Amino acid sequence: MSTHALPQPYEYRYRPIVEPDWTRFPAWAAVTAAEWEDAQWQRAHCVKNVKQLRAVVGDLLEERFYADLERDQAERATMAMLLPPQMLNTMAPTSHEAGGPTPAQFTDAFYSDPVRRYMLPVFSDRRHDWPSHPYATRDSLHEHDMWQSEGLTHRYPTKVLAEVLSTCPQYCGHCTRMDLVGTSTATIEKMKFGLKPADRLDGMIAYLQRTPQVRDVVISGGDVANMPWKNVEGFVGRVLDVENIRDIRLATKALMGLPQHWLQPDVVEGVQRLTDKATSRGVQIAIHTHVNHANSVTPLVARATRAMLDAGVRDVRNQGVLMGGVNDSVDQLLDLCFALLDGASIMPYYFYMMDMIPFAEHWRVSLGQAQQLQHGIMGYLPGFATPRVTCDVPFVGKRWVDQVDEYDDVLGMSYWSKNYRTSVERDDPAAVDRKYVYYDPIHTLPAEGQAWWREHGHTEGLITDEAMAAAASSRAAAAAELASTS
Ligand code: SF4
Repeated sequence: MSTHALPQPYEYRYRPIVEPDWTRFPAWAAVTAAEWEDAQWQRAHCVKNVKQLRAVVGDLLEERFYADLERDQAERATMAMLLPPQMLNTMAPTSHEAGGPTPAQFTDAFYSDPVRRYMLPVFSDRRHDWPSHPYATRDSLHEHDMWQSEGLTHRYPTKVLAEVLSTCPQYCGHCTRMDLVGTSTATIEKMKFGLKPADRLDGMIAYLQRTPQVRDVVISGGDVANMPWKNVEGFVGRVLDVENIRDIRLATKALMGLPQHWLQPDVVEGVQRLTDKATSRGVQIAIHTHVNHANSVTPLVARATRAMLDAGVRDVRNQGVLMGGVNDSVDQLLDLCFALLDGASIMPYYFYMMDMIPFAEHWRVSLGQAQQLQHGIMGYLPGFATPRVTCDVPFVGKRWVDQVDEYDDVLGMSYWSKNYRTSVERDDPAAVDRKYVYYDPIHTLPAEGQAWWREHGHTEGLITDEAMAAAASSRAAAAAELASTS
């Protein structure tokens, strides 16, 4: 028998998670562990613009990076810049070993860093041939069209999404809710909620009370970590009072981006009160977070997760987004899943294909690649922790990538069907017979497919007027309908 077994395509080994040394950044050279672990210190020292990034990183980054970033802010960014120190510290994390890098070395490491690639995008990252897909839209999942009260999307038969606020402690460059979330950028004027926050939450509760077929509420935004805790507790407590609700999920990327928030004693005690109430009613409360790379899983993230589990949260699950240059290989996905599972007791749950928002083509991957990645990660993780690679098809919802009905991989068009009606199709008998289309990024297509799109995909490579007009009209229709029913 041979003693030289062939290597596995992926070689598992246990890797301890680490908190990178924040004192490598000039501005944080004297920051103590107590300051670092303080949520208020983190919020007060977020990086919100190029000037503040310079103040933190200084001459470690060469001018070429700052210029690239400034151009992206002016011409492409759909999300404002907002980076808690915790997140910035996971970029180019090992670059100071062996005496420290030169500015050229640090800049190169920063450019190629996977967390930087999606949290701090620069102009040269983006595609210049097809920066946006011709069918990209601001609200690509048509969530606003399905609002039943302001911020409450009813898309699936038994579950709803409650967007309780429109801000986050961190802004991700690829945010699918770029239409609503965050402050306006040079290219995107954000939609604004019209109702006062209390009235918006009242409207959501009223809908849940009059809709007994809903049993499951995802409470999101934005990020619930940006809502004052007493307001979160008050709203979740009212949701728990609705008889038909059996599952509640709190959506917070801050569990990773600002774990200090979830370690604050008043938050931990408040979560314990909510889970006590949920348990007494037989309801489950879980946390859904959003981690895209293994480097983001640090001991502070593990501590925050442990605090939530100890406070009675049923599970902490990860919903990552599949992105080119960030995590689009089997090794990167499995490294992330094992870091989550072994290091932080976070359950790998979904990897979404990116939604078709403007200026996202450099991040998006094709359905064919997503299917290969799903195949590549099978068998290494426990079955219960093997994430599903999922396509969120407009007007359909989440579909496992292998559930596609038909796939034209030359034109990059996949066709999907569904087995329920969304809230805007209640009177549409064809909704469950129709095929719905999702589009691959054009640059991933063979030459024949790219030529077809050059001829038929009337776009200047920017957000099309048609898409902007369609999004505006759908929002106006949703607002008018709301006004007429309230
Ligand atoms: S945390 Fe979520 S909602 Fe907030 S910017 Fe990131 S992806 Fe968007």
